Amino acid sequence: MVITTTQFIKDYRDVALRWFADGLENLSPLQQYQTLALVVKGYAARDWARSKAHADKTQQKQVYYFSIEFMPGRLLASNLLNLGLKDVVDAGLAKLGLDSAAVYAAERDPGLGNGGLGRLASAFLDAMASTGMAGNGNGIRYRYGLFEQRFVDGYQVEVPDDWLRDSYPWETRKENRAVIVKFGGHVDLVPGASGHLTAVYQGTDDVLAVPYDTAMIGYRTGTVNTMRLWAAEPTAERAHALAETARAGAITEFLYPDDSDTAGRELRLRQEYFFVSAGLQSILTHFKRTHGDVRLLPNFVAVHINDTHPAMAVLELMRLLLDEEQLAWDQAWQLTVATMSYTNHTLMAEALETWPLGMFQDLLPRLAQLAFEVDRRFRARYLSRFGSVLVNRAAPLQDGQLHMANLAVIGSHAVNGVAKIHSELLKTTVLADLYQIFPDRFSNKTNGITPRRWVQLADVPLATLLDDVIGTKWRHQPQALVALRSHASDPAFLSRLMAAKHENKVRLAALIQATLGLEVPADAMFDVQIKRLHAYKRQLLHVFGILEHYLAIKKGAVRPPRVHVFGAKAAPSYRYAKAVIRLINAVAALVNADPDCAGKLAVAFLPNYGVSLAEAIIPAADVSEQISLAGTEASGTSNMKLMATGALTLATLDGANIEIRDAAGKESMAVFGLTEQEAKALRPQYNARERYERDPVLHRIVDMLTDGSIPNIESEGREIRAELLDYNDTYFVLADFADYLAANRRLDALWGDPVAWAKLATENIAASGRFSADLTVQRYGREIWRVLPEQPV
Ligand SMILES: *Cc1c(COP(=O)(O)O)cnc(C)c1O
Repeated sequence: MVITTTQFIKDYRDVALRWFADGLENLSPLQQYQTLALVVKGYAARDWARSKAHADKTQQKQVYYFSIEFMPGRLLASNLLNLGLKDVVDAGLAKLGLDSAAVYAAERDPGLGNGGLGRLASAFLDAMASTGMAGNGNGIRYRYGLFEQRFVDGYQVEVPDDWLRDSYPWETRKENRAVIVKFGGHVDLVPGASGHLTAVYQGTDDVLAVPYDTAMIGYRTGTVNTMRLWAAEPTAERAHALAETARAGAITEFLYPDDSDTAGRELRLRQEYFFVSAGLQSILTHFKRTHGDVRLLPNFVAVHINDTHPAMAVLELMRLLLDEEQLAWDQAWQLTVATMSYTNHTLMAEALETWPLGMFQDLLPRLAQLAFEVDRRFRARYLSRFGSVLVNRAAPLQDGQLHMANLAVIGSHAVNGVAKIHSELLKTTVLADLYQIFPDRFSNKTNGITPRRWVQLADVPLATLLDDVIGTKWRHQPQALVALRSHASDPAFLSRLMAAKHENKVRLAALIQATLGLEVPADAMFDVQIKRLHAYKRQLLHVFGILEHYLAIKKGAVRPPRVHVFGAKAAPSYRYAKAVIRLINAVAALVNADPDCAGKLAVAFLPNYGVSLAEAIIPAADVSEQISLAGTEASGTSNMKLMATGALTLATLDGANIEIRDAAGKESMAVFGLTEQEAKALRPQYNARERYERDPVLHRIVDMLTDGSIPNIESEGREIRAELLDYNDTYFVLADFADYLAANRRLDALWGDPVAWAKLATENIAASGRFSADLTVQRYGREIWRVLPEQPV
């Protein structure tokens, strides 16, 4: 897109006047940002309309990515980058005398997700548009996003995220595309004239689903796709009653602040059906308008089920094909399976979603009937070949529960895990029975990230250096970063690389000072762990490492100075995770106030982790902590973001860490801990208390939890100690402790040789291109969705 600075300035003044009826000098930074967002939205509008028309005209196959969470992050800078207008706009803002940093900072981060799952969904939308695929998001427009996290006396306090208060300029309400979603009531199957049974609904509770579309702008491709998020409103007949507005709206009022165990709550079930039904209805309406014959659906439409939350898409599509399109069962089923595909995101059996059949029947009576029929046919078809034990375990209905992962596998033509180890473990653990029946459906698609956001936008010092040294090809093809390998022994390059890193660290140090009032030395090793607070991710192991360092300093040991940076939200109901948050804050208070630690050790727990905070932290990291117990993290993606900006990974052999090591080379990662197989073998004979008794350092640290050496954690300290010693340390923190320390000492030694460190950082950056989400979605596109990526238009 070609816009001159002069044109931009004119457009900006026009929009400001039309929208706010005021001169620029009277606009707040928020209004200046809103003006800019509207200008940029206008620039993308033509491409957006054209992409839609082009896809319809050429009958391009469409991907619909169904996800209950999206975390797009701020869109202004990313849209400008992708449109190729960032420099023009920055120059224009400067000419207008506006403070561009303040303008960008006025944008709110739509927190419509909890963590990795939602961020992945948004990375995929960005990547699909950037590779010219017609790929759209389908999800929920939550009125309140994930809570805003604050710390009060070290406790996590949750504040509602009122992200729509100032309106969201990127979205467009499409009231003309609204559909009705029916809940409850009962269904009669009435024989019609043709002999086909017609489903007649009575006493249903109808809700209006209104779509809000946001443009997903491809990186210099001209392709603009759509993220469609649905809001619940009362239907026209009921819209006059205030109580009805509140009741209908409740469906999309808030995001469940939980990664996993929300099952069993009826409102969550409502949310899931709401966006699945609305999405499929609108897809079918559009499909029939552009293609006519619904029997061609899988030739032109792929629906992707991101984790099990949208798995009832299998049943809802069956309902639409049977009841609305009057197809016969076998044909409807064949079309459904050919259209659907499913990604599993977890290995924890307890996190696999199930719904009590009674609740499901009450809320979704027609879908429950279809679930019974899917179950009956599944059993009938596979019983003789696989036997009743296996078929019972693989069936959708068991013990009065509907098993959504089983339904998703049975109703999809493709199932994938999100890292090599995870995809292999799926076949032997949580999906082992279904793998026996449908081995050809299974594959691996390792997750990816978008280097545009994490390197081009968030790490300008590095991006500039890369351009200078290997040219700009990497901006379009991150795999071109391998060219950096030939510079890994060039001392001049290495010192420039470390200078870029230092610049980022100075910037993060300023943020830490501004946020926490804590001064940290920018020349220390910045050791970062940023992710949801969860026992399996083992932030506790990291804290134990800090306490060991603290004790060593008190004894006079001299080690390289370290700044530990944490970012993590805990689910409000997750007691243990909140206890760990309080512990981290208490250890931070202890360490940061101790004069013996000054200049040697500091702990900064930055509140309210989210995409924007990640952009500030990641470029400044020297060390990336990826220390989950092996066999628990499906993939991880912060590991990829951090390697891409030159952090060395301190890691267990879990999730995508294994592939990062294979890509960047063994030396480039500090690996420690039990392997998945070792952990599994240890489990039956594990005795945490014995480890505690045997290791004096560990003994001392565990005692610090409860003996008053860390002030203000009485009850939290007791709870964590009990988890370790009374409940036998579920995630083997004590088992991996000694090896974790050893890996840290190897990093310390390496820090003493800055050239060697910089060389390994270079190896990481050079190898990071293969984790670009552009490549990941192309693998989905070729092997699962069967869409041929078009050349950029
Ligand atoms: C990448 C990302 C995650 C995922 O981090 P993991 O370490 O892979 O769990 C979570 N939240 C945000 C904001 C992210 O950007």
